[in-house]
Amino acid sequence: MSVLEILRWPDVRLSTVCTPVGDITPEITALAADMLQTMYAAPGRGLAAPQVGVLTRMFVMDATWKNGAPSPVVFIDPEIVDLSSQKITQAEGCLSLPGIIADVTRPAKVTLRWASVSGGQQQKTFDGFEAACVQHEMDHLDGTLTLDKISPEARAHALEGYAAVSA
Ligand code: ZN
Repeated sequence: MSVLEILRWPDVRLSTVCTPVGDITPEITALAADMLQTMYAAPGRGLAAPQVGVLTRMFVMDATWKNGAPSPVVFIDPEIVDLSSQKITQAEGCLSLPGIIADVTRPAKVTLRWASVSGGQQQKTFDGFEAACVQHEMDHLDGTLTLDKISPEARAHALEGYAAVSA
């Protein structure tokens, strides 16, 4: 396993719509392991393949490891099955936007279907922080960042000082 370089905005690969994984090859399995290691090293709680320069539809998440209870999940070709009509606003960071915390409003619950690294189909409903995290990572697969989800005023404010932080 190895820790991969995490791309930072405005790298154009972060604004690209990714293509489906399809067959789960040994390369995909190895990439999933590297992405988890990279996420833990960052440290972060979610990481999408385009953030390490691979423009394919997969992401990893572990919403609980910072509390001492690791629960790594690899999501391959994830699809949103259902979104709640109720929405909430949560503060979101992003490993590709170091130093920027954006208040993003999203559905409070999301039901996702995906393939695991073993190829089996999984489905689960997420709420709370995990719901925001899952939707944040799904956005990455469509080339969307938190900056694209907030008002122009909030975006301008968030980007003040970004160049200095990311230099
Ligand atoms: Zn992100």
